[in-house]
Amino acid sequence: MKYIIPPSVLHTGKTLLEAGFEVYLVGGCVRDLLMQKKPKDWDFTTNALPEQIQKLFPDSFYENTFGTVGIKVPEEISIDSSDRIIEITTYRTELGYSDNRRPDHIHFAKTLKEDLLRRDFTMNAIALSPLKNEIQDFYNGEKDIEQKIIRAVGDPNERFSEDALRMMRAVRFSSELCFSIEEKTLQAIQKNASLLKNIAKERIRLELERILLSPHPSEGIEMLEKSDLLQYIIPELREGIGVSQNLHHTYTVWEHNLLALKTCPSKKLSVRLAALLHDVGKPRTKKGDGKFATFYNHDHVGARITREILKRLTFPREIVEHTTLLVDQHLFYYNVEEVTESAVRRVIARVGLENIKDLIDVRIGDRLGSGVPKAKPYRLRHFEYMVEKVSHDPINVKDLKINGNDLTQTLTLKPGPKIGAILDVLLGEVIEDSSKNTKEFLLERARKLESQEIETLRHTAKSRIEEQRKKDEDFMKSKYWVK
Ligand code: ATP
Ligand code: MG
Repeated sequence: MKYIIPPSVLHTGKTLLEAGFEVYLVGGCVRDLLMQKKPKDWDFTTNALPEQIQKLFPDSFYENTFGTVGIKVPEEISIDSSDRIIEITTYRTELGYSDNRRPDHIHFAKTLKEDLLRRDFTMNAIALSPLKNEIQDFYNGEKDIEQKIIRAVGDPNERFSEDALRMMRAVRFSSELCFSIEEKTLQAIQKNASLLKNIAKERIRLELERILLSPHPSEGIEMLEKSDLLQYIIPELREGIGVSQNLHHTYTVWEHNLLALKTCPSKKLSVRLAALLHDVGKPRTKKGDGKFATFYNHDHVGARITREILKRLTFPREIVEHTTLLVDQHLFYYNVEEVTESAVRRVIARVGLENIKDLIDVRIGDRLGSGVPKAKPYRLRHFEYMVEKVSHDPINVKDLKINGNDLTQTLTLKPGPKIGAILDVLLGEVIEDSSKNTKEFLLERARKLESQEIETLRHTAKSRIEEQRKKDEDFMKSKYWVK
């Protein structure tokens, strides 16, 4: 077989070879080539030492302790972002992993075979000489790729106790590549799972992100459970295992969360996280049993748990906030038969127009994942249509046809908090009835409100919104017994 390798990569290999060194492509790029996929990046392994590599490539950098030199490829020569930087690592072995995560010493090795032995899985331990077009495969990785198997190189127990992150990598590769984990390798993960406690949360989070963004995220989460790793990552999700629901659901909470993730149409990390976690609050709020069990307040309890989980796993603040909002609001009201434009405007005012699409995507997963025939996501398309329809209606003080200046000019009021309170009352009225959004009407109303105390105004604005919100929620929640 002939492999398609960019000229920049061939040139790099040739430079090392002509200087008398051994040089091989290795790792993900070889795995991808063997699977007829386009590699994301290119890594070489060589017997040249870092200083020797740097001498051959003036435009290179060496700033780590792992013996890796980065070669910058000029833009005119590189084909795309995949070969802008080519990494070259000196053959090495790793010794004495006393903390289950980092080798105590790194030794440069003499032979390719030694270097391949330190790698995690057979599929990642294949070397390819790009110029001689020859494969070096001491651990039968090619056969494992053909059979779609993830198998540790050497003794799996030793390999996972050396570096516990490899266990997460095994699961991540299984959901990214749709491979199965070989029996002994899986058993070794189950045996060593608790070593994951020694791994930095951030590194775990990066692998979890890749599982969630893979083509089969729910299978990945299931594999985390099967391999006994989940208890060290998101133990809260396990609370739903075996917890039955009510007549609106045929699945347990755990199964339903997984199915919601599987059927959620979004490719965004925060939305997939929200689909997975949307009912994480159910086990702790369950009352009663059988067909009529209830889960009142599980949305808000779930949002609190979600925030804790995501913060603990060091997700960036935007992801924490967005996912928490989606979990908190996933029960938003809609009902094709009787949904009113003002109800839709209230949802938008509460969650923000920019979040509606994501919220609908979570809900599609929620409905499709419920396993009951009446789960019809087309209804959500109707809701989307309604959102579109009212999206230019006023839902924010900024959308009102008057502003604070108009009020201070027309009324006797001075600029101050009372102006804001009046505008809030007016907004509440306009959300209910957009036709009231005219300058004349609003100024007229403002004149009537002017004499009221600020506390009264605030109370009116708040209670109006709250009252409606409660009406919407009560309808929604009593329908699904999830208040
Ligand atoms: P991808 O880039 O698609 O995630 P990859 O196989 O290239 O896959 P990298 O993390 O880029 O993965 O690592 C490159 C190679 O380095 C791997 O293929 C593997 O041979 C080796 N490797 C990486 N991490 C480890 C580890 N924790 N233990 C042992 N070998 C590892
Ligand atoms: Mg890689």
